[in-house]
Amino acid sequence: MIAIIGGGITGLSAAYELTRRGVPFRLFEASSRPGGLILTEHVDGFTIEAGPDAMLAQKPAAIQLCEELGLGPRLISTTPPRAAHILAGGRLHALPSPSVLGIPLTWRALAEYDLLPWRARARLALEPLVRARRGDDESVAQFFGRRFGRRTVDLIAEPLIGGIHAGDIETLSMPALFPRFTEAERGRGGVLRAFRRSHRARGEGLFRSLASGMGEMVAAIAARLPPGSITYEAPVDALGRDALGWRIMAGGIETRARTVILAVPAHAAARLLAPLDARAAGLCASVPYVSTASVALAWPRRAIAHPLAGSGLVVARRHSDLRITACTWVSSKWAGRAPAGSALLRIFIGGAHDPGAVDLSDGELARLAEDEIRGVLRIEGPPILTRVHRWRNAGAQYIVGHLARAREVEARLSALGGLQAAGSGFRSIGIPDCVADGRAAAAAAAEYAKMNPA
Ligand SMILES: Cc1cc2nc3c(=O)[nH]c(=O)nc-3n(C[C@H](O)[C@H](O)[C@H](O)COP(=O)(O)OP(=O)(O)OC[C@H]3O[C@@H](n4cnc5c(N)ncnc54)[C@H](O)[C@@H]3O)c2cc1C
Repeated sequence: MIAIIGGGITGLSAAYELTRRGVPFRLFEASSRPGGLILTEHVDGFTIEAGPDAMLAQKPAAIQLCEELGLGPRLISTTPPRAAHILAGGRLHALPSPSVLGIPLTWRALAEYDLLPWRARARLALEPLVRARRGDDESVAQFFGRRFGRRTVDLIAEPLIGGIHAGDIETLSMPALFPRFTEAERGRGGVLRAFRRSHRARGEGLFRSLASGMGEMVAAIAARLPPGSITYEAPVDALGRDALGWRIMAGGIETRARTVILAVPAHAAARLLAPLDARAAGLCASVPYVSTASVALAWPRRAIAHPLAGSGLVVARRHSDLRITACTWVSSKWAGRAPAGSALLRIFIGGAHDPGAVDLSDGELARLAEDEIRGVLRIEGPPILTRVHRWRNAGAQYIVGHLARAREVEARLSALGGLQAAGSGFRSIGIPDCVADGRAAAAAAAEYAKMNPA
């Protein structure tokens, strides 16, 4: 029997893969529902994501899993126009098209990029002449400053990458988060040339979701698993190893397994690993996590003067006095998320630069989100819907040194015999990576169990 600890998308993907292979397993989940950070709510005709809302199409693992689950016809793309915006100096600047990570890929897109002053645009254009750096790791801020110029750090990298990861670009690792960029700089002609070459007109946009939200994927996986294979409200509090294999303690009940997949956040893995390997536990405990809150607000469409033509905005922190970090224009980004005649917005607060935000009351968070977005989008009257969600210590931060740490954890766990860690705390940024990682861990666990029978 194989034990999976944690029923987020990583643990569920591992469970699906074992089911597909006909390998017996048990999944222990601390909470009372599957999905972890994926949670979709349906309220008064609105579809509200509390956690992730999109799968990056470029990494196919999640879309492929949806297709295997029969959800192919339920996949949806973002609605055009897909422009994301950066709020800086009191103005919304649409990201250029074509671009990658906010970096324009054509001369025309660069010339029209009014977010950057002219001198900064000229510096960006010189990127192909910047020599590649030899070295292991560097921060996102260092990479952008070195290759694209200093002004792109706080006007592009900070709002976009810092915003997506709710993190601090001075510490987030570029090779850990965007290996394609760091590889590209080693080729002839630098990053711009590499991405210009690989860029294709993306008719359907970069992201996919499911018609009723990401929760559909979670429900479809859970429905495929053998009845009773998930134990809910079963936080695993200890792991032990002896000659017969692994002992899993959850709520005073012991379960035995040949091999174990830890699909929990790194801080939870650290607690379980402490008595087994203090070094591995220390490495896991050193993965920082941030807390964020999101506030879903809806208005009658006519109450919002802004055209909402695009997917939303991120705030350039150093060029704004707002506390909110981003706002998704949900009903413009995805079809069918709000009743006709209304508009649904989702506003983000907190992260590495505002750790205290998550401790504000629901009322305070809602007021903050409403007051600040009202000015940006010129909104009149009270919202018709307000929902607040909080994620404490939920966003893993891949800081400089993360890849080396993750490799060492992997090696140390493997040396313990039949133990693996998978998911967002280790080597999986976002849902597609978590799906791929969970399935790969399941395949390796099945192989281990076959080679080491009871
Ligand atoms: C607000 C937000 C928005 C995001 N948006 C996107 C997006 O649009 N697209 C995208 O691709 N990614 C996005 N992400 C990232 C994505 O959500 C995660 O990468 C992914 O969901 C992580 O899945 P996981 O299974 O590794 O971890 P989790 O979802 O954290 O699951 C871990 C599970 O382990 C359980 N657990 C913990 N301790 C124990 C224990 N001791 N015993 C048993 N169970 C335990 C927890 O209850 C939880 O269910 C977003 C993240 C956040 C916070």
